[in-house]
Amino acid sequence: MTMRKPMVAANWKMNGSDALAKEMLSALASTNLNELDVLICPPATLLHAFANSASCVLGAQNLSEHTAGAYTGELSAALLAAAGARFVLVGHSERRTLFAESDQALAGKMQQAIEHGLTPVYCIGENLQQRQQEKTGQVLAKQLAAVYASHPEFLAKSVIAYEPVWAIGTGEAATPEQAQQAHAAIRQQLAQYDSKAAAEVRVLYGGSVNSKNAAELLSQPDIDGGLVGGASLNAEEFLHICLSA
Ligand code: PGA
Repeated sequence: MTMRKPMVAANWKMNGSDALAKEMLSALASTNLNELDVLICPPATLLHAFANSASCVLGAQNLSEHTAGAYTGELSAALLAAAGARFVLVGHSERRTLFAESDQALAGKMQQAIEHGLTPVYCIGENLQQRQQEKTGQVLAKQLAAVYASHPEFLAKSVIAYEPVWAIGTGEAATPEQAQQAHAAIRQQLAQYDSKAAAEVRVLYGGSVNSKNAAELLSQPDIDGGLVGGASLNAEEFLHICLSA
């Protein structure tokens, strides 16, 4: 039996403030959370507020697929690492849909992250129409293949987040059974690339996780933690979710 250390991640999206960072840090410091990794992904301009904190690790929400140069407004893996990030979200559904990030661009971002020592949290998930058409397995397999078919060695250096698009920000989380089924399918697919890494990789669930549904979702055998959006903007609620993992 492989032991995977649970991870609970906060994705603040384009929200937050220095005041919220302070609240979050004092909430986290008030409790012993040694049994899990708490990852905070604030907007890049707030990374500094968490630097050197012992109670969490830091992540960015996005990175450039380029190393450096004339890319106005972009942030490279090296810049994010220098600002204290150790992780970075790659391919969040909002990036895929609102910013038209292609599989090819995402593969480049994965490469950049790993080359610069950031652990990518690679986000995948089907939309409502795809689920209704029973294409979930196919969609997840394609999103995984886009990165890991050509770079199976990336798997041992990744975290995966399963985030069904229909559950993000809707208040309608996947049921524990739906989520477990998708996570098991993800692990099975990944085993084609590297069976050892597939057994060891952490697969987080995201999509309307809150303090009420977290314990049941996070106790599923193939769910290794959560990626929390809206509920991570309240320090008490986020702490409660961490304590459920
Ligand atoms: P949500 O967002 O928890 O607000 O549904 C999750 C995410 O987008 O990572």
